[in-house]
Amino acid sequence: MLEGLKNLCRKKSPWLMHFNTGSCNGCDIEIIDALTPRYDAERFGAVLKGSPRHADVMLVTGPVTKQVKPRLKRVHAQMPEPKAVIAVGNCAATGGVFKGCYSIENGVDNVIPVAAYVHGCPPKPEAILFGAVTALNALFGD
Ligand code: SF4
Repeated sequence: MLEGLKNLCRKKSPWLMHFNTGSCNGCDIEIIDALTPRYDAERFGAVLKGSPRHADVMLVTGPVTKQVKPRLKRVHAQMPEPKAVIAVGNCAATGGVFKGCYSIENGVDNVIPVAAYVHGCPPKPEAILFGAVTALNALFGD
């Protein structure tokens, strides 16, 4: 019962962290848009945090470049359990337009585990919020 209560509290107050692994900034702008009062992510208790040690959910944008790969792994390891990663945009999901390029890893799930994928180039703020809710449901149950 205590575990269920803890999960409910965590699900209703996800702290987010944003990590750009080589994005063109299109997806990043849409994430910022999703956090504005217009889309009201705070109704889900979502707050953007700067430190991985305070974050439950990591929003990753862009194809993972070989240069940023060790940093992504290190920052992911610094997040406390339970944690979830959301790949935002086609580049983060599969490599997108950069797929096959010599300098990238073709998607975040080649480097760290991903709980939800949000497709689009860039995805709409509504899709990003839906991806966040999907990841939280996967992490803490419906
Ligand atoms: S999915 Fe599109 S908007 Fe997002 S980083 Fe890739 S090219 Fe840019």
